[in-house]
Amino acid sequence: MANLDIVNNLKLIGDYHTHTIYSSSKIYKHGKGRIIENAKRARELGISEIAITDHGPAHRFYGIKISELPKIRKDIEEANKIIQDIKIHLSVEANIIDTPSGIDIEEKDIDKFDYLTAGYHLGCESGQTMKNIISYGRFMPRGRYERLRSNNTNMVIRALYQNDIRVLTHPFDKAPFYKDEIVKACEENHTLIEINNRHNNLTVDDIYEIAKYNIKFIISSDAHRPREVGKVGLAIDKVLKSGLEISRVVNLERRS
Ligand SMILES: [Zn+2]
Ligand SMILES: [Zn+2]
Repeated sequence: MANLDIVNNLKLIGDYHTHTIYSSSKIYKHGKGRIIENAKRARELGISEIAITDHGPAHRFYGIKISELPKIRKDIEEANKIIQDIKIHLSVEANIIDTPSGIDIEEKDIDKFDYLTAGYHLGCESGQTMKNIISYGRFMPRGRYERLRSNNTNMVIRALYQNDIRVLTHPFDKAPFYKDEIVKACEENHTLIEINNRHNNLTVDDIYEIAKYNIKFIISSDAHRPREVGKVGLAIDKVLKSGLEISRVVNLERRS
């Protein structure tokens, strides 16, 4: 990050997609670091804001427990007392699922977060997981594959229209989707398209293609351990290669 930063004269204002130990279950620690460790790393890099976006509760292996939200909020307050020059947001990476509301955060819980982000993940109940795993390698008959692709696309569009989602995380990842339909829904709902440093399904060509829509982008580390916070070199590389204007990436600015 530091090198790219100097070479391209770009500054990352905030890293709004980071995970912590709250993305874990009894048997599996998915996120490795604590909130304060993510904040410290951001401060080391001169990043002024981070968001804690642990996985939504429907994930079988590493979803947050809604009952732990007060504890997470308290950890953020404690971290802010120690590291006062970083703003830490409490968000969530909600799971997009095949239910009427489209995500795994119930309406009564939405206000407990500063804002929502959401993405599609395998491993959730009502998430079409088995069908999408089977679709890998295209062993599925074409008709069934296209129906699944339509269902996946509708699932994401429903989530975007039914909820106020600030960021669609790693779009087009983990399953087949119709890209234009999803991007149009982001345009209409003012949802940011994430360029994720860990996931590659939004390619340079995709960014070039979808830039014709009236959408804005955000780049994220999707850090699962503190040392990954602010690590967005691959995402910046994609932005530059696609020719996207820096002003369309909400958390990047040119150093003056
Ligand atoms: Zn994710
Ligand atoms: Zn994530």
